Amino acid sequence: MKQHSQRTELLAQLYTGNPGQLLARAHALAAWLREHAAPSACGGGQPTSNPLMDTLPQLRQAADNLARLMQALGLGESCRLCAARPGGGCCSAYMAANSDAVLITLNLLLDVKVQLQVHTDDACCFLGADGCLFIAKPIFCLNYYCRQLQENIPPDAMHRIQVVANQVLNLQNDWENKLLALLRTHCTPSLSGVYQP
Ligand code: SF4
Ligand code: SF4
Repeated sequence: MKQHSQRTELLAQLYTGNPGQLLARAHALAAWLREHAAPSACGGGQPTSNPLMDTLPQLRQAADNLARLMQALGLGESCRLCAARPGGGCCSAYMAANSDAVLITLNLLLDVKVQLQVHTDDACCFLGADGCLFIAKPIFCLNYYCRQLQENIPPDAMHRIQVVANQVLNLQNDWENKLLALLRTHCTPSLSGVYQP
């Protein structure tokens, strides 16, 4: 019973809190996963494989493909310039709430240096000077194309973008599902580790 409530609390910690809290928990979880992500490790044995870490190269490749496609269509630059304007374009502070500790953990494991960005305007705290810090992005951010972009992207190009974006999304979802399965059935890490940005 106690274990059950610990796991419930752990799951709540992953999905609720302010960006600073989520980032601190993500650092604790990423450190734990680097050591314990194989289920056998939770029982005290040595991990033989690490399913959560093993799938990262595929996700990185899919995200690279999407970035290259967007770059080729000039969207990366359009969004970068737009997001650099006061308020961050569609990358507003309000949108930062779409990021949770699971997503941040995934980015940390992809070697993204996630640091909260201080903006004097209303921009998302994950918006850096060169655009979004993340490789793995919130669903809404992956799927959102403002009217201006939609009007300028030919339908076949939009279709290609959606296909690749869906690949990224599916891999992100798979990863999250594996993580949640691991946390529910095998281990309960503490996310109260000290993290100083
Ligand atoms: S999707 Fe549209 S509003 Fe959002 S950053 Fe790109 S150009 Fe700007
Ligand atoms: S998470 Fe990234 S893409 Fe989404 S709003 Fe923030 S900076 Fe923009």
